[in-house]
Order: sequence, then C-alpha cells, then structure tokens
Amino acid sequence: MVKLNSHPAGRHFLQIPGPSTVPDRILRAMDYPTIDHRGPEFQALGKKVLADIKTIFQTANPVVIYPASGTGAWEAALVNTLSPGDTVLMVETGHFATLWKKMADKLGLNAEFLGGDWRRGADAAQIEARLAEDKEHKIKAVCVVHNETSTGVTSDIPAVRRAIDKANHPALLLVDTISSLGSIDYRHDEWGVDVTVSGSQKGLMLPPGLSFNAVSDKAIAASQRAGLSKAYWGWGEILEANKNGFWPYTPATNLLYGLSEACDMLAEEGLQNVFARHQRHAAATREAVKAWGMEILCQNPAEYSGVLTAVVMPRDASGQHYNADAFRKAVLENFNMSLGQGLTKLSGWVFRIGHLGDFNDLTLMGTLAGVEMGFEVAGVPHQKGGVLAAMKHLTATAGNNEKLAKAA
Ligand SMILES: *Cc1c(COP(=O)(O)O)cnc(C)c1O
Repeated sequence: MVKLNSHPAGRHFLQIPGPSTVPDRILRAMDYPTIDHRGPEFQALGKKVLADIKTIFQTANPVVIYPASGTGAWEAALVNTLSPGDTVLMVETGHFATLWKKMADKLGLNAEFLGGDWRRGADAAQIEARLAEDKEHKIKAVCVVHNETSTGVTSDIPAVRRAIDKANHPALLLVDTISSLGSIDYRHDEWGVDVTVSGSQKGLMLPPGLSFNAVSDKAIAASQRAGLSKAYWGWGEILEANKNGFWPYTPATNLLYGLSEACDMLAEEGLQNVFARHQRHAAATREAVKAWGMEILCQNPAEYSGVLTAVVMPRDASGQHYNADAFRKAVLENFNMSLGQGLTKLSGWVFRIGHLGDFNDLTLMGTLAGVEMGFEVAGVPHQKGGVLAAMKHLTATAGNNEKLAKAA
C-alpha cells in the first residue's frame, strides 16, 4: 500500500458524484472467498443478481452485466447495435456526452452532435426536428445522457422518446444512466429505451468495476444484424450463459456479492423512497447554494439533478472566477473531504457536490458544513448561512420521504 503521511481521524467524506461511498454492509458482503464461477453456489448468486438488477432498471428484459467500468458498457451499447458508418445522433449535454461522442467517432460511426451550452438537458424539440428531416432514416440511434455528471443537469428521457415517436422514426434510443441508476427515477421499459447503459460505483454504492446494458427486444434484434466488430462485448453468448446463471468468462465474483447486497438494500428502503431521499437532499443543497449567494450551473429548475449540484465560483472585482481547484484543495487538506472538480470546459470555475448513494441528512450537513468552512478558509467571498438554510429545509421535510414518494 502507498504510505500516506498520516492517518486522518474519522471517515473521509467522498463527496464526488461517483465513486460514491461504499457502505459497510456492502464491504462486508464482498469480504468472502472467491468461489468456483462454474459451480452451484455461484449459479445461485448469478441467478439472484440477474433477477434483482432488472428491478433497479425497472425492466422485465435481460440486463447484461460486464466486469468493466461504465465506459465499457458505453462501447458495448454501440458495438452491439450499430454497423460501420451508421449515423448516430448524440446530444452535447456536457463532458460525458462528449466522451461518448468521441468513442462513437473512434468506432467508425458517423456521430452527429447536437450542440449545447452544458447548462441544459437534451432538447426534445430539436431532436424531433432533426429526425423529421431524416426521411431516409439514415440515423440509426439517438444517444442521450440521463444525468450529465459534469453539470448536474438531467435530460427528460420520456420527452426524447415522444420526440422519436412523433417523428415516426425507427432509430434506437440509447441512454447513459451511469450516474442516475438507483438514485433518480428511471424506467427502461415504460420509457421505451432500447439500451440503458449504467455502472456500479455511483447510485449502486459499489466499488468501480461492474457495468450494465439493459436491452429491449428491438435492441436484441438490431444486434443480430449489427456489423461493428465485437467479441468480448457481444451480448449473444453472455445472454445464453446467463440463462443458467453463468458467464462465458470469469465474472467479477466479489463485486457480484456486493451487487446482491446493494439490490437488497435498495429493495428494503424502496426504490421510490430512495429517489425521494435524493431529491430532498438535492433541494436542501440548492437552498445552501442560494443562501451562499452563489450560482447553480444548471439553468432549468425542471432539470436539476438529484445526484449532484454543480456550483459556479463567484467572480472577483476583475471579473475572474475564484479558483475552484484551490478551494477544493483547501477543503481536502483542512476537512478531509473530496469535492468534484470542474471537467474540461468547466475546469477551474465550477465544483460539484455529490449527494448520492449511501447518504443521509447528517452526511449532507457534514458535507455542506465542509463547503461553507472551505469558503472561509480559502478566502472565497460568500454569504453565511448556507448550512442553516439547508438545515431548515431538512427539518421542515423531516420524515417525509415516504410521503414525498407517494406524491411523486
Ligand atoms: C462516471 C460516468 C461515466 C464514466 O464511467 P466510468 O465508470 O468512469 O467508465 C460515463 N457517463 C456518466 C454520465 C458518468 O457519470
């Protein structure tokens, strides 16, 4: 192990929007011997997780589980459904949408990018207009990021589905839910999504290393014609082996122990309660940001993320933003908390507060107190009282998670 200078007392606050903190219960569930992945004990585990994960995606269809980071599942979604030179319509919501687009370019797809300012979600009307123009149906897939983790902006997936249907267009709908699954309401079947991509280290509270493709019948049919090269990522052999609870290669056994526990935990709390909890903590965080006199990056309140809040650093007299990374460094060094950095276009002037996963009212209070104290220590001008404003929101809505879930 790398020797660190000292052992800081207390727990590190990992308030980046993924990986999120892994709860003790999941760590303990993974702390078992690795077993024979072709034996009967594994088979029971495989069958359980393959059934349980469907409830998280809200689908009755199969979910392919890869030993890979989320990026692997992005690639799997593209190579299983598309052919070289196919046109795909992608939406520039932020850093992650841009990376997915670059991947499509590298794979030899013709990726068209609907430009965006990184402060709003996908514009369904714009997607509909572009599809309506495409009379020859050259566009084979529409790709959207549900929760853009770089900006704290969500996109309205049912609206994108309606846009495709209104244009009467046969394109597949591919959605990245890497940072929203298990945190923000998401319905693969009801919303008519063809491939949903996700990962383990955000809402599912697991370490990095598992990722997912939930697939529709239409996506499976497309995979039988798709011409892009695929071997490891191919759904066919995996789905065949999964029928008996196995994989065609060595699966990430210990992460699957963790996945089983994560699914149990989400089921015990109730998915709708989990979603309401995230919305409530996001709302309290926004109260704090407003009280500090700061700006939230997301410009459309209907698109605020339940998973993270991206905050714009205030400007000094010359109009320059105070440095977000110097501020984050002060928070880490003084209070042992990691906040999310501004990515690419947002680098240096935006920071992100993650409020997802295994997270409760007091975790939020500790997080926001660390941010407010960090402003003070780093000399970032702010109004006092952000923590107090969040506290007011939490006390006014205490114990209401279930009611909020029912109202939703
Ligand atoms: C984290 C994230 C990714 C990348 O996932 P990796 O596990 O780092 O490969 C992609 N998309 C979104 C929306 C993410 O939040």
